[in-house]
Amino acid sequence: MEKLIIGSHVSFTQEEGLLGSVKEALSYGENTFMFYTGAPQNTIRGKIDENKTIEAQKLMKENHIDINDVIIHAPYIINLANNKDEDKFNFAVNFLKQELKRAQTLGIKKVVLHPGSHVGLGVEIGLKNIIKGLNLVLDEKTGPIICLETMAGKGTELGKTFEEIKTIIEGTQNSQRLMVCLDTCHLNDAGYNVQNFDELLDNFDKIIGLDKIACIHINDSKNSLGAHKDRHENIGLGTIGFENLIKIIYHEKLKEVPKILETPYISKDGGKDRTYPPYKKEIEMIRQKKYNENLLEDIRKYYSKL
Ligand code: FE
Ligand code: FE
Ligand code: ZN
Repeated sequence: MEKLIIGSHVSFTQEEGLLGSVKEALSYGENTFMFYTGAPQNTIRGKIDENKTIEAQKLMKENHIDINDVIIHAPYIINLANNKDEDKFNFAVNFLKQELKRAQTLGIKKVVLHPGSHVGLGVEIGLKNIIKGLNLVLDEKTGPIICLETMAGKGTELGKTFEEIKTIIEGTQNSQRLMVCLDTCHLNDAGYNVQNFDELLDNFDKIIGLDKIACIHINDSKNSLGAHKDRHENIGLGTIGFENLIKIIYHEKLKEVPKILETPYISKDGGKDRTYPPYKKEIEMIRQKKYNENLLEDIRKYYSKL
């Protein structure tokens, strides 16, 4: 059997902690997962329950989930690129330090971070601020890794090119603690042609180095190449397409890299609600390498019967 490390975004609640996340991942047939340590849009974080963590780690072992493949995503409101408000910048730095400590408490080694948005300060100053922030956060030689996510370039987002990511890595002192998280939707929306993934990887290798890839977010995109939009679509239903995503997921050079789905929940009956998680059926389809034309219907059937 081909090696495949695949999971999705799952929840992490105050009550169930890491144990709830592992159970959710297992319910989708996953062997890795990613979560926010609280709400993604805020920075309110509770205490971590030690017993639930120990139980979760045991459950992972029993089910062959390697904790080294599990990912935390930092909240997306953290913006190291903006230092207009000094208090906010310092808050972001301190929050990230705390987030790395939380990762350590949970036994998790990788934290994904959106590099930041320059909010009108300009690319150069924005990148300088990110480097300054990362130097403050990564003030020790060892500890969890921060994975800089490649962004779509929506608004003033930085990290939309491999060159910008390279500048950040090269400017940071303890850069051994920096790696990269590719996001297929973001790459497409940023203008990188994921349909020609070998070329894209060669390009990445020349600029940053393949050994820096820590994680890949697998999402289809609602928008066309270079749209700078960042709207995820379910696997096979977007502009990237099933066959292209399969090539990426099973790429020989990325065998050891965890793949994480962040595709949208689907509606009960075609409305605007986001009720059902798509991951179980999407992962089934990925494992079979066969496009399921009834994906959305199958998801609805599965969950309405539970
Ligand atoms: Fe992200
Ligand atoms: Fe992502
Ligand atoms: Zn996104």
